[in-house]
Amino acid sequence: MIRIPFNRPFATGDELDYIRAAIAAPKFSGDGSSTAQCHALLEQSLGVQKALLTTSCTHALEMSALLLDIGPGDEVIVPSFTFPSAANAFVLRGARPVFVDIRADTLNIDESQIERRITARTKAIFLVHYAGVGCEMDTITSVAQRHGIAVVEDNAHGLYGRYRGRYLGTLGQLATLSFHETKNFTCGEGGALLINDATFNQRAEILREKGTDRSRFFRGEVDKYTWVDVGSSYLPSDLLAAFLRAQLEHRDQIQSMRHQIWEVYARELASWAEANSVRLPIVTAECEQSYHMFYVLMPSFESRQALISHLAGFGILAVFHYLPLHLSPMGLRFGGRQSDCLVTEDLADRLLRLPFFTGMSSSEQSQVIEAVGGFRC
Ligand SMILES: *Cc1c(COP(=O)(O)O)cnc(C)c1O
Repeated sequence: MIRIPFNRPFATGDELDYIRAAIAAPKFSGDGSSTAQCHALLEQSLGVQKALLTTSCTHALEMSALLLDIGPGDEVIVPSFTFPSAANAFVLRGARPVFVDIRADTLNIDESQIERRITARTKAIFLVHYAGVGCEMDTITSVAQRHGIAVVEDNAHGLYGRYRGRYLGTLGQLATLSFHETKNFTCGEGGALLINDATFNQRAEILREKGTDRSRFFRGEVDKYTWVDVGSSYLPSDLLAAFLRAQLEHRDQIQSMRHQIWEVYARELASWAEANSVRLPIVTAECEQSYHMFYVLMPSFESRQALISHLAGFGILAVFHYLPLHLSPMGLRFGGRQSDCLVTEDLADRLLRLPFFTGMSSSEQSQVIEAVGGFRC
């Protein structure tokens, strides 16, 4: 029986009041006042010129591929160690993923491996800030600029993390957020597109509204709305935005609770890690992390599996993470076998994520720490 889950979604207490207000308004469909509130909260807190809520991070990634006009014959650089949505977004448009290995310290895309994978067909780099620790963006941005290719930040983990003082999600032309229940801020299922290049603003609104200029119509800028481009239905219900508003307004509380839990793990597991050749997360000097997860890198695949079973014996659910994309059935169809992503293969086998969620009690955390501390490699 699971006594301590890997994740337990957290509600701040204000969600129902805001949903009640949306019901009373009454406004159930998308782009009502709750959605506008969330846009303003994200834009103001991050200093982003435009944020658009979406139905998921996956859909914000798909919008990014559409906005960048990625199509058949194009190549897109993606780390092998990421979620399939990042690759699917442009594979759906007929483009090919080019898998790049990760750095052993942050598990982020290895910026030194990017340039040699760029060809005349490369359109973009879709990167992820793993665990909310920023990629080496100065290097990546300059490589991308040199070759005239776009950078999309999959920032599902990293909302309110920073790189050299700048918020993650403000560094590429486009960035995406996830509000899935496993993320720092949630409305169950949801996401956002952050637009750092204003030339995308108008088309992003159209793609999100089924290829119509309905957003301009609602603002009174055109006197009717019609089909003007491709698109889909990427906007969430205002009821979900009402839920999310409560979460975003509690940003400081949520982040400080997560910060505290993270620091306790790091402190209390340090000597166990050292004695057992286990590596704890590394946050580089350029970065302030977002406190999204706490992982350990075990010395071997076997010790990782053994620790999972050991914790399961105490009713504690700890989980591994991404399977290397280049070796997945889809990745192999794109020649993934030749990708040369040895760090990804090694670390994916050894990584374990411990229970980590907003609202985790200190007693729950002590039980996890005690159970981990009782494990010998
Ligand atoms: C969770 C996650 C996604 C998918 O988010 P959804 O909102 O569920 O679509 C994409 N990328 C990364 C890195 C994630 O962690």
